[in-house]
Amino acid sequence: MKEMKHVFSMITGETYTVEADEVQNLDITNQIVLKKPFPKSCKKCYGRGYIGNRCKNVDGSYQSTNELFYCLTCLKKCVDQ
Ligand SMILES: [Zn+2]
Repeated sequence: MKEMKHVFSMITGETYTVEADEVQNLDITNQIVLKKPFPKSCKKCYGRGYIGNRCKNVDGSYQSTNELFYCLTCLKKCVDQ
């Protein structure tokens, strides 16, 4: 059986798996290879690796941006420094 790696896209917030051989072909600018998947038991992100979208204040009202608010607890645990 081939070894699978979990990859987290910092743009879309998706976590997906690729074969270990394929990792070298990835564009790693905005993607991180994880040591292990984000734990589903995380109370902040529920295994997604991000908590939600960042908000910014526009004309006195908060608007959601496309920028993700990452779960630092999980990133620390699952990402090689
Ligand atoms: Zn988390």
